[in-house]
Amino acid sequence: MSTTQKPVLLETNDELDCSICFELALDAVQCPSCAHNIACFSCATQIVRTNPVCPWCRCPWRSVRACPEITRRILRSPAKCGFTGCNFRSNYASVSSHIPECEFKNMIQCTNEGCNKRINRNALNDHLKKCYFRKIQCRYCNANVVHNQIKRHLKESCPEAFIRCLCSESIKRKNIQQHMELCDYGEAVCDNHDVGCDWEGILRDKFDHMDNCPFEKASIIVSSLQLRCSTKETENKELKRKLEHALREVEQKKIELQLAANEMLRIQAQSARQQDYVYVQTTRPQHRYPTSQHHSDAKQAEGCTIS
Ligand SMILES: [Zn+2]
Ligand SMILES: [Zn+2]
Ligand SMILES: [Zn+2]
Ligand SMILES: [Zn+2]
Ligand SMILES: [Zn+2]
Ligand SMILES: [Zn+2]
Ligand SMILES: [Zn+2]
Repeated sequence: MSTTQKPVLLETNDELDCSICFELALDAVQCPSCAHNIACFSCATQIVRTNPVCPWCRCPWRSVRACPEITRRILRSPAKCGFTGCNFRSNYASVSSHIPECEFKNMIQCTNEGCNKRINRNALNDHLKKCYFRKIQCRYCNANVVHNQIKRHLKESCPEAFIRCLCSESIKRKNIQQHMELCDYGEAVCDNHDVGCDWEGILRDKFDHMDNCPFEKASIIVSSLQLRCSTKETENKELKRKLEHALREVEQKKIELQLAANEMLRIQAQSARQQDYVYVQTTRPQHRYPTSQHHSDAKQAEGCTIS
């Protein structure tokens, strides 16, 4: 934090700010021809140096007018000291003279996350060495751990820290699960759990239990049933396969039959058309003779036979 801290106004007021950089214009100046905007001295100097034209009315700036009224208003405005921890409040002028003597001027916040201590700037290094929130390296896993959390880290989470198992062996935390699978004190359930035995305990007692487990007989029966079931399952699978094969063959035969039937129909239709043609050929000449002539022919024929 800077020691050139400025007073902080309790109420912001746009009229007191530079229209160019929006900072408080303690040394405000105005354009001689247009008078509604103010610029701070450093912004005005910049304009005069680069392009001496009023930014608002574009008139040339040969000289600018100081605004002592703005300065007076700022100096009278209520303000507070800007150093953290200091409660000094007064008008801007008094706060300005307070700041160089402010006792909080050299007080800074400890840089460690979580530490709220404010210390004199010169004492910071000493504080950082013993701050409860400083980070230290875990001697087992090398992780950076906040000093006041190291005990907890070792007790609850450090993967490289040693834990004493009930079997009295010391094991690294990261290996404990692997160890418990083999340790006499690891959790165990009865081998007949699936057929209904609820026994749970430690591995050391499991062998005793297995010798006396009331579900042992049931387990044997279940195993033989399971074996039979699986044999049946295999047989079923084979039968299903055969059935599917047979069904596929039936489908194939059906298609072949259908094709043959279609072919037969086609041949029948063709031969029927040929017969029709023959019939038309043989009957057509009869229609050429009138019926009466037909008759007289017949009569002549009759007469001939009679005579
Ligand atoms: Zn400015
Ligand atoms: Zn102007
Ligand atoms: Zn102060
Ligand atoms: Zn600290
Ligand atoms: Zn560790
Ligand atoms: Zn163990
Ligand atoms: Zn059991």
